[in-house]
Amino acid sequence: MKKRENPSKTIDGYLKELCLSGIRDSYEEISGKARSESLSYEDYLLELLDREYEIRFNKRIERRLKESRLPLSKSMETFDVKVLPKKAIHQMKMLLEGDFLDRCENVLAFGNPGSGKTHLLSAISQELIKKGRRIYFTTSSLLVQELLWAKKNLRLVNLLKKLSRFEALLIDDIGYVQQDRSEIEVLFTLLAERYEKGSLMITSNLPFSKWDTIFKDPMTTAAAIDRLVHHSIILELNVSSYRMNHAKTKGLIPQYDNEENVHAATLAEPKKPLLSNLNAKNSAANRQNEE
Ligand code: ADP
Ligand code: MG
Repeated sequence: MKKRENPSKTIDGYLKELCLSGIRDSYEEISGKARSESLSYEDYLLELLDREYEIRFNKRIERRLKESRLPLSKSMETFDVKVLPKKAIHQMKMLLEGDFLDRCENVLAFGNPGSGKTHLLSAISQELIKKGRRIYFTTSSLLVQELLWAKKNLRLVNLLKKLSRFEALLIDDIGYVQQDRSEIEVLFTLLAERYEKGSLMITSNLPFSKWDTIFKDPMTTAAAIDRLVHHSIILELNVSSYRMNHAKTKGLIPQYDNEENVHAATLAEPKKPLLSNLNAKNSAANRQNEE
């Protein structure tokens, strides 16, 4: 190897051109360490690559958290796991592994308003993004508007393609009532498009028995539920409103004894025969997931 004139300048130039900013920022410090600790050439190179990898990985996570549009304040750090039912805690731990994304399984979180559905799924999503996954957060109403806009401007295929790059779509509050047929159609198109190709994470205040208010006719409702529950993990957060409890412990609101009854009614089993079949299927899917 030939000896070079002013190597630092050339090294800087190369690292800049090759966009190796992690090495560029650290190689002088690491070179000093290598000299003082008599590192082997391989160990020295490994230290440099470690630094570059770490910087790139962190930047990628930062980018993915930004593109996810997740509410970042709803994180695992700010989530009180203890208030969850035991079964949900077990499911949460399983979801944090992220394997459901590889299996293109859906996650459906049910519970009354304020029970922490949005917070829990957002927090899980953030943790998974930190492991390198790609997830996109949207509300059901915003998603429908975006899909409609895209359809009107002949860009529906592009939008579906863009969304398909995410391993999971977190659709918040699917209880939003669609106004007309075209809104239902685009939402259904998306559900059908993702079926077995990518995960959906959905929160809803409405039990399946009331989903005909979302999709209007029983056939579309049954078809949508069927696709969603086929490979799914169902979280039932039948806990009382976190906000309400918080306010109560601060003495801001009087306590009512019948609150549990309100939750039981919200999560009531479907009464229609068409949907009860789906519910049985759904319980079977859940049992399978627990095994
Ligand atoms: P939901 O989506 O079920 O209506 P949210 O997730 O929006 O409920 O929760 C309502 C509020 O209560 C939010 O501000 C959320 O951060 C907070 N919250 C709910 N559950 C918890 C929890 N277990 N730990 C900490 N904050 C919670
Ligand atoms: Mg919510």
